[in-house]
Amino acid sequence: MAPAAAAPSAAKSGKDTNFKDKEKSGSVRSSNIVAAKAVADAVRTSLGPRGMDKMIQSGNGDVTITNDGATILNQMSVIHPTAKMLVELSKAQDIEAGDGTTTVVVIAGALLDAAQKLLVKGIHPTAISESFQRAAAQAEIILQNMATPIDLANDEQLVKLATTSLNSKVVSQHSWLLAPMAVNAVKKVLDESRPDNVDLKAIKIIKKMGDTVEESEMIDGALIDQKTMGRGGPTRVEKAKIALIQFQLSAPKTDMENQVIISDYAQMDRALKEERQYLLDLCKQIKKSGCNVLLIQKSILRDAVSELSLHFLAKMKIMVVKDIERDDIEFYSNILGCRPIASVDHMVAESLGSADLVEEISTGGDGKVIKVTGIQSSGPAVSILLRGSNKLVLEEADRSLHDALCVIRCLVKKRFLLPGGGAPEMEVACKLREKANERGGAEQYCWRAFADALELVPYTLAENAGLSPIHTVTELRSQHANGHSNYGVNVRKGFVTDMKEENVVQPLLVSHNAIKQASECVRSILKIDDIV
Ligand code: ADP
Ligand code: MG
Repeated sequence: MAPAAAAPSAAKSGKDTNFKDKEKSGSVRSSNIVAAKAVADAVRTSLGPRGMDKMIQSGNGDVTITNDGATILNQMSVIHPTAKMLVELSKAQDIEAGDGTTTVVVIAGALLDAAQKLLVKGIHPTAISESFQRAAAQAEIILQNMATPIDLANDEQLVKLATTSLNSKVVSQHSWLLAPMAVNAVKKVLDESRPDNVDLKAIKIIKKMGDTVEESEMIDGALIDQKTMGRGGPTRVEKAKIALIQFQLSAPKTDMENQVIISDYAQMDRALKEERQYLLDLCKQIKKSGCNVLLIQKSILRDAVSELSLHFLAKMKIMVVKDIERDDIEFYSNILGCRPIASVDHMVAESLGSADLVEEISTGGDGKVIKVTGIQSSGPAVSILLRGSNKLVLEEADRSLHDALCVIRCLVKKRFLLPGGGAPEMEVACKLREKANERGGAEQYCWRAFADALELVPYTLAENAGLSPIHTVTELRSQHANGHSNYGVNVRKGFVTDMKEENVVQPLLVSHNAIKQASECVRSILKIDDIV
């Protein structure tokens, strides 16, 4: 009973409590750092072109194989709240830049390690946090100075950037196909009126199992990931007039609480006849507008289309596709050049989109997809058909292509590029160390620690490629000190070379954002002194 008795007495004396509190905040902080660092260590081996992939098994037995930092962290079941902050960090990088999701976590891990050492030296967390903020701001300037502007018309350069991003993926051997595809797709949806952003929603990737990734293609036209409804209706329509409707072709339902009681056969007969007439009228009106391909929005309130109306539409030789997702309406109305129609009264010829051919094609197995070609007034939107021999490859190909698309989008947002292979991180480290000399006291210490932490990126790239990390980093450091700011880890040749000559380049936004967000995240972890 002795410890229990001691606790209240310690609480009574103010001096003791203060002492205890300080100790507690120190231990909370260090346990937070340990937890977050554990997460960073877990993804570290995935960094770079020679990085390893992770196989993640979810609770329901689904297996994912990926190299993408954001995906790994997202699927890991992390419990500790600060470890979760790293998951969020990677997600934030994914949203903002789309690539560099492993890098950001590796940097955050290194900065946490640095912070822990500084704390042990007795530097106050707030001082560390503020120094890190200033160092990160300085890093931004250094990166900007080493970046080279890029012209969006330079396709060759853009393909190189997309290739770098695909290098580290499982599907890297297909980057000759996927990289130009990403560039073309983004260019196609580039909006003149909003020149500094790209809406990636306008690029629809449709995944179909079967064949290899090499058979993937960007479609000159549109793809709809649905089957036709059949029932004897056409599966191939030439000179198509496409309508995208948001109303249902089924009998209306009563309100929640109401019911219709039918007591004899005559009444039932009348009700059925009325339903038939109602649906027939709807179908006739659709036919009258000239429509011969009907896309119906998914409906949760009642059936989007009933058997009876399907029968009528089939007789009228109208192709029917149902279950178009609400979120996809904008995409399809853009790409097909048709206007979404909310009520049958608005069913007019002007709302329809025209295409030379709409046909259902088989993608192997029972996979089907509807292909629309020769669209007359297609807006800025593209469809990509992605193939893969199994689900794991297909999913990873999708994520990798997404990264490549994001890289091109980054360039549209910020038209500068940097050499890859750890060159930007090393350059920032070298320049920061120089700048640190101009600072005094603890600040200098913190800046040096910040600089050293960034070296973990080239270190890890070398380590993952089976090179000697220490040799590589010291060699790299001396090259950068001699003004060779483009030198990075050449994983193919196994030593340090000019990454630009090696065609390994990446967008400024990715590196810039990674350093900025990682230091923000570390600062907020440092500021936590208790978990309640
Ligand atoms: P992230 O999820 O952070 O993008 P990656 O696994 O894609 O992580 O690795 C990105 C890192 O790999 C970047 O630092 C990039 O410069 C580097 N990298 C990519 N391709 C090469 C290459 N061919 N040689 C050296 N480094 C490369
Ligand atoms: Mg990447």
